[in-house]
Amino acid sequence: MRLLVVEDDRALAGQLAAALGAAGYAVDCAADGEEGHFLGDTEPYDAVVLDLGLPRLDGLTVLRRWRAGGRTMPVLILTARDRWHDKVEGIDAGADDYLAKPFRMEELLARLRALIRRARGHAAPELACGPVRLDTRSGRVSVDGTPVALSTQEFRVLSYLMHRQGEVVSRTELTEHIYAQDFDRDSNTIEVFVGRLRRKLGADVIETVRGRGYRLRPPEPAAGGADG
Ligand code: CA
Repeated sequence: MRLLVVEDDRALAGQLAAALGAAGYAVDCAADGEEGHFLGDTEPYDAVVLDLGLPRLDGLTVLRRWRAGGRTMPVLILTARDRWHDKVEGIDAGADDYLAKPFRMEELLARLRALIRRARGHAAPELACGPVRLDTRSGRVSVDGTPVALSTQEFRVLSYLMHRQGEVVSRTELTEHIYAQDFDRDSNTIEVFVGRLRRKLGADVIETVRGRGYRLRPPEPAAGGADG
């Protein structure tokens, strides 16, 4: 999962990037509204943290332009403007959530988890696919109840596939969602991560769909066993 942080307060942007990175996300930062708008308009983010008071282009304008242009990624407004009508204006401009500064990082992380899973059609914080479970709160992964240790990149690949389970995800798409913008990307490394995940989680968990990508698919229910 890859996030965009649009925040002109350098110290806060650094704290956000560190906390989000520690939580397993790939993070891009923009320090003004124009850059933020451009990145959100051209890169596929799983969620955005957006300040309102920004140089060059204010946050509400950025948000309205994204929505007018058909960009649907979840956006959480993080701002010092905490009057109720600011919140209404932000949400009506297309925000999915609103958090006023000062804030607790734990709350921001919880709200982002909820936005990301809801955007992919999941309500529960623990994602399950056959024997594999991923707890989005702790970042823990298990197979048949046994914890499995994953590297950061392996976790990002699995987390993206878990959120998109049942759908075919191309290597290009996976690459775009596990690396930050300034990272030297190589979509061939996706194969390496998938190979490692298969060794750790079981060979059948991630299916290769020839010429199209990968799919995480729950095992078919046993035929004829249950009645009804
Ligand atoms: Ca600001």
